[in-house]
Amino acid sequence: MLDTKTTTAPVLILLGPPGAGKGTQARMLEDRFGLVQLSTGDLLRAAVAAGTEAGKAAKAVMEAGDLVSDEIVIAILRDRLADADCASGVILDGFPRTTVQAEALDALLAESGQKINAAISLDVEDAAMVTRISGRYTCGGCGEGYHDMFKQPAVQGACDKCGGTEMKRRADDNAETVASRLEAYHAQTAPLIAYYDGKGALQRIDAMGDIDAIAGDLRAIVASATA
Ligand code: AMP
Repeated sequence: MLDTKTTTAPVLILLGPPGAGKGTQARMLEDRFGLVQLSTGDLLRAAVAAGTEAGKAAKAVMEAGDLVSDEIVIAILRDRLADADCASGVILDGFPRTTVQAEALDALLAESGQKINAAISLDVEDAAMVTRISGRYTCGGCGEGYHDMFKQPAVQGACDKCGGTEMKRRADDNAETVASRLEAYHAQTAPLIAYYDGKGALQRIDAMGDIDAIAGDLRAIVASATA
């Protein structure tokens, strides 16, 4: 097995289909390990909202549940990785999603003498993802996540964390788009499991259970991968 550890800032990757819980788990790891969560989905949604050239090119593709071009996504990620806060280490959520992106990430990290500490696959069953995704929403104020069936705020319509009352649903979180997103995952992203396994960097966890139990499993992996 290759030595994937590094003495430089940790780089962790969360792999898994839409709805696997990558965002939720990445945010929990952020607090615990002082890592910065980098979600290319969030960066792209910000670019769409800001009306940048990249955002204009990405909007329709995202609404259809397809993958945005490697060129756009790699450029967005490269810019964000150069920000000062990323120097403490990053947890990548939703990137890479293609082999081209994985190779670009390796090259980018090599420029600064960095390597991936671990790529962790959150293993789930597709059938459960549609229910998970189509019911989810977030607080527009603080980003706290909720779900129609699994996690309602204590007071309907008000965020438990910040009291905000503006709840948001993603345009692509609907049953039709989820089918395309799952298809894109299996065709273009799932091959990365073998890619990272080949580098000796792959870890897998069963992500069908309780959020806190999964978080515990993840913490153990991250602690050992960054020790
Ligand atoms: P996410 O928030 O990770 O579910 O991403 C939402 C959407 O943004 C995806 O369905 C894609 O259209 C696009 N997207 C996010 N990350 C990537 C990526 N690494 N490569 C290509 N498209 C992406």
